[in-house]
Amino acid sequence: MNEVTSKSTIAFARVFDRGAEIRSKTLRQKSEGKRVGLVPTMGALHAGHLSLCEQAAAACDLVVATVFVNPTQFGPDEDFEKYPRSLDRDVQQLAKHGCNWVFAPSVDEMYPGGLETTIDVGSVAKPLEGASRPTHFAGVATVVMKLAQLVPADAAYFGQKDYQQTLVVRQLFRDLHVPIEVVVCPTVRDANGLALSSRNAYLSSEDRARAPALHASLQLAKKLAAEGEVNVPKLRDAMQQYLAKIGGIEIDYIAFVPTGSVDEVTTINGPTTALVAARVGGTRLIDNLEIV
Ligand code: AMP
Repeated sequence: MNEVTSKSTIAFARVFDRGAEIRSKTLRQKSEGKRVGLVPTMGALHAGHLSLCEQAAAACDLVVATVFVNPTQFGPDEDFEKYPRSLDRDVQQLAKHGCNWVFAPSVDEMYPGGLETTIDVGSVAKPLEGASRPTHFAGVATVVMKLAQLVPADAAYFGQKDYQQTLVVRQLFRDLHVPIEVVVCPTVRDANGLALSSRNAYLSSEDRARAPALHASLQLAKKLAAEGEVNVPKLRDAMQQYLAKIGGIEIDYIAFVPTGSVDEVTTINGPTTALVAARVGGTRLIDNLEIV
């Protein structure tokens, strides 16, 4: 059966764990004129990840999702060991949402020489998430570059939820001449506004009830900005007060940046994205919203 041409009628995804094999098979599909979409994930999939696959499937002939919990993007005190892993279920879900091939390598397969070679993306990795997670984006850039080598796709699909990551990947591909289009897909949310995240699985029921407040606080900033507020300290105060009333939420940062940048502004002056990172219970969550 040709799983590439019959993707709309079957729910089957072929799983690879060898880089050399998926690379040669991908190159072969490309040589036959197929457009290839790459969807990098760390597994424990939810509807947000699956929406990336669906968008890839709508624009590509072959969709390759990767499931790899990348150790180098976790800090020493972060949750690498306990990060949820559910490959069998993930493969079934991916197949139902337009994915043809799944690349699920081991750590040794992805890092054959250990952790010697890494990619420093410079200043885009320093503020916001980078301030709290100093090694995170070097890990992201390195693994995305490896995946781009092994799956030389035409387009790669990323979620808007990880705003800074989208800027890191765009810069990485531009600067290292990687001919893969970056497609950024909208954040998928629960009905209550909570951005879907694999880490939501860590939330207690009390914290699950609190967590939608992050999105609500961003919406509050959007509303105030629509009413004419351009003063960022005032917008940040309003968000802080809102979250303080909810309780149980420890803010890491609230930031306002011109959309497409990571450089914070103090006055709204054009298209602006608001970002929030906070611990809800012990779980660190991030979200963002284009407010102007
Ligand atoms: P992760 O498995 O957390 O590394 O995420 C893999 C990809 O899915 C990244 O490009 C994320 O930005 C994207 N993603 C995660 N959560 C969502 C969401 N709620 N909506 C849309 N995309 C998402």
